[in-house]
Amino acid sequence: NTFAEIDLGEALNLNIRRCKYVKPTPVQRYAIPISLVGRDLMACAQTGSGKTAAFCFPIISGIMTSQIPQRPYRGARTVYPLALILSPTRELSMQIHDEAKKFSYQTGVKVVVAYGGAPINQQLRELERGVDILVATPGRLVDLLERARVSLQMIRYLALDEADRMLDMGFEPQIRKIVEQMDMPPPGERQTMLFSATFPKEIQRLASDFLANYVFLAV
Ligand code: AMP
Repeated sequence: NTFAEIDLGEALNLNIRRCKYVKPTPVQRYAIPISLVGRDLMACAQTGSGKTAAFCFPIISGIMTSQIPQRPYRGARTVYPLALILSPTRELSMQIHDEAKKFSYQTGVKVVVAYGGAPINQQLRELERGVDILVATPGRLVDLLERARVSLQMIRYLALDEADRMLDMGFEPQIRKIVEQMDMPPPGERQTMLFSATFPKEIQRLASDFLANYVFLAV
């Protein structure tokens, strides 16, 4: 009933207290334990439900406690994030990045954001300093993949936030292109979380294509 009862690792639990989160919201109460045991998740959740923490906590906790594998070497300028959070807009990406940075404070987990509509050079410099969790909009990420500045070969956690909005904005081809580049398909090591306010046919199709044996959650 409180975050203190959920073992997310000492550093993350401390950051949760710093954020003054005491009680999980409904989506957090159900999504976090499901994700911590490694299950894929499709969650119907609205803005304001606390979904950002619901996907960030298991990702940060998982990266903190896992053995980080040796990242392959593709070129000095290619980075290999372990987690990817896709979101439809620059504003939402910046918001997720701000929250994820607070949650990962002093955990050693590095979060970088990349969105379109802004010069790419600053984002490239940030990426070069290292990245574990990449928060990105689909178009800008495709650009980074085409420049071979990001590789998705090591992705263990994929979160799609506001998936219905991403489809409404026409991002489905980019999203499919992105997911195709992940080397560990389900039911392998990749864990996928799909968040959407609505659950129309197009989202059901994404869920069956991207998720393995998933838990469906509506709050
Ligand atoms: P979100 O739905 O992720 O955009 O979160 C909505 C707002 O609720 C944000 O300002 C969060 O910081 C806040 N929030 C999320 N989870 C909790 C919680 N368990 N306790 C208090 N505030 C929270």
